[in-house]
Amino acid sequence: MTVSSTRLLTWHDGVAPGQSRRDGALFIGSVRAEELAESYGTPLLAIDYGVLDAAIAEFVAAAQPHGIEVAYAGKALLLRALARHLASTPLALDVCSLGELVTAERAGFPAARITLHGCGKSDEELAAAAAGRVGTIVADSLDELQRLAARARDDRRIDVVLRINTGIEAHTHELVRTAGDKTKFGMPADALPAAADIFNRAAALRYRGLHAHIGSQIYESAAFAANVRALVDVAARAAAIGLHGDRIIAGGGFGVRMHPGDDAELDIPSTITGLADAFSESARRANLPAARLGIEPGRALIARAGTSLYRVMAAKEQYGMPYVVVDGGIADNPRPALYDAYHHPLLASRAGGAPRETVLCGRSCENDRIVTAPLPADTRAGDLIAVCTTGAYTYSMASNYNRFARPAVVAVRGETHTPIARRETVDD
Ligand code: PLP
Repeated sequence: MTVSSTRLLTWHDGVAPGQSRRDGALFIGSVRAEELAESYGTPLLAIDYGVLDAAIAEFVAAAQPHGIEVAYAGKALLLRALARHLASTPLALDVCSLGELVTAERAGFPAARITLHGCGKSDEELAAAAAGRVGTIVADSLDELQRLAARARDDRRIDVVLRINTGIEAHTHELVRTAGDKTKFGMPADALPAAADIFNRAAALRYRGLHAHIGSQIYESAAFAANVRALVDVAARAAAIGLHGDRIIAGGGFGVRMHPGDDAELDIPSTITGLADAFSESARRANLPAARLGIEPGRALIARAGTSLYRVMAAKEQYGMPYVVVDGGIADNPRPALYDAYHHPLLASRAGGAPRETVLCGRSCENDRIVTAPLPADTRAGDLIAVCTTGAYTYSMASNYNRFARPAVVAVRGETHTPIARRETVDD
């Protein structure tokens, strides 16, 4: 990594990837955070395309030598402008709803590079796959495969990958664990004979391979390698009953560092090399003919690029504890409430005084703590707060709780900035 790509991908000097401080003020890319807040209002999600592009380059550089396909998991954040940008990169795209698919289509993202996921697909979503609006569909259950078969027409081939529950449990929050005996996702390997029957009866359905995504925010490389080995074992069982595929998709879940002082960090290049080695060794052992490996990171591509900006509405002391209330919260970022997620806060408008442990809260009618962390003791109404690493699963999970409007999203490229999602209004 060069010095500049290090600053784009890692925490440095107490600030998040892509950020810097000049004269005490926080900059995102080369734009003062306060300029963004004044231009677009708050709450605001800023996406630093320099950081995004560095993350894409990191994944592509690690994956391409092994022939691994990298798809962006759109559920992390998908906006039309973002999808347009992604279409110009080597990435493929995963969508998991008609809404995400239409966003990609309106951005001109090529259908052949889109895979449709989701564990409960609507009739419209199955019809979209049957009509060739995606290159591949991942079937999550036998029922879904059957429903797809019922929609298939003999003259239009549908490429299908089966989602398998490999039983590999990653050490991550229970709510973002997606394999193992307490999860709803995918089918067991025992379902393969019944799946083979459905493929045999529906000429248009073409079996292409297997998929398993074990969870999100995973820091142990070994879990990814274990998952791919398990998938290869299942692929060998599939081949033994006549299901010959050429794709193994090992999901996303690559963990991202959320705290400046944390050493929990997943090294992406070595994790991908470990995945590739586990894949080729186990495929050789299982005598599996050549298949292409795919991965589908969401968070690791977009989380670091995002910073949420909030205006302080009140600073007060409650029972000896300082509280800072900002103009956003659980509605635009439910992650702390859902998963106890940590997002590091920074005073963005100025350097501020000595830090003290502070409860940073939103303004909803919940006790919505965004985070408890050190903030300057003199933080006051009117200050601007940056909450870091919020590119993934914040805007895309946002709600209108309390009838708050969703924030605007702005793309920062070096010294320039462009709005990519307008702020909702009360009329919306
Ligand atoms: N693939 C699938 C099927 C998923 O469900 C998810 C996330 O839930 C991802 C990929 C992306 O995960 P992450 O954003 O942790 O990389």
